[in-house]
Amino acid sequence: MKKYDERETLFSRIGLEKGSKEYLEFYSKNKDTKVDDDSLRRISFRNALRKSDKFKELFFPIIANNKLYIKNLHEMTEKYELKEKVTIPKGFNDNIKEITKYYGATDVGIVKLNDSSYYSHFGGLSESLDIENYGKLIDAKYKTGIIFTVKMDLEFMNRAPHYEELLTTEQAYLRVAEVGARLALYLKSLGYDSFSNNSELYLAPLVPLAYDAGLGEIGMSNHLVTREYGDNVRIGAVFTNMELDTDKPVDFGLVDFCKKCALCLINCPSHSISHLPRMVNGRQFYKFDDTSCFDLWTKTGTDCGVCIQSCPFTQGIDLEKVKRMKNNPELMKELIKDHLEIHGRRKYTKNDLNIVKIGGKK
Ligand code: SF4
Ligand code: SF4
Repeated sequence: MKKYDERETLFSRIGLEKGSKEYLEFYSKNKDTKVDDDSLRRISFRNALRKSDKFKELFFPIIANNKLYIKNLHEMTEKYELKEKVTIPKGFNDNIKEITKYYGATDVGIVKLNDSSYYSHFGGLSESLDIENYGKLIDAKYKTGIIFTVKMDLEFMNRAPHYEELLTTEQAYLRVAEVGARLALYLKSLGYDSFSNNSELYLAPLVPLAYDAGLGEIGMSNHLVTREYGDNVRIGAVFTNMELDTDKPVDFGLVDFCKKCALCLINCPSHSISHLPRMVNGRQFYKFDDTSCFDLWTKTGTDCGVCIQSCPFTQGIDLEKVKRMKNNPELMKELIKDHLEIHGRRKYTKNDLNIVKIGGKK
């Protein structure tokens, strides 16, 4: 099994300081991405946002302190001392799922973690937590992953690629950190060491784990696509040494559905999505151009989200038909036709939401 290395991810690559020891070392081994990565290095989303200076002055601070909030959650969780161990009864996995939902998760699944679930090394993405970890080995010490989704706001996502998209994405990252922190605190209070992954510090890539946990399948967008909310969700994960019964991946026929749909690929403004399969550790992903995708983000000043907005599952789809669509190409075609009739090729709402309209409702 291939181990993922966070240093190879786009965010880690473009976070490297040009000319630094880490930069020289990385690109001596990875020459082919250097020129493209250099063009994307250290770009400010605030500057890139296509809005007036007044707009940026008033509305960018809505999310400017999210990382500070996440830092506090992280530090509180890490500092919290383990309490005396409580014996866990059989079937407690169901309680854990309900408790995670109580804390704010939309859906929850549980997986067994092994060495290859984890990144091999940190990619140095935790600057906002005042943690310097670039190149440090990751200790695969937790054996159970509690993986959850938090859904984003569809009204906001349907404004993608405009500022509302960034607002709902950032909101979801913050909620993920909150749910994870509360769950980790709870597990530690029962005497089980636990770690909450958050947008500033991951021990593992979460899409494969969310797939393993049965929360959805991997779509052509390379996102987790859930039946109920499509890819309009963010993923969180708490790793723990509490032993719990685990879930299994689901197969509702998404691989075949994506072949017929391809709306994310068609609508992607940077042509980053492809229909070509890419197998990673036995899970089907798709070839994807992360550089051209991020390049578009630097032009919109948001993280785009058009692929999320384009997905029929994001917009809501007949779940009764979805239950029967596997191995039924005609039903898949019918679902796509229904979607196109209601939403067109892409559901996009032009007018700003009141939250960023000066003077609000008028
Ligand atoms: S975020 Fe935008 S640019 Fe990136 S893959 Fe999705 S649609 Fe394409
Ligand atoms: S938009 Fe269509 S092709 Fe893309 S992930 Fe969603 S269902 Fe699959």
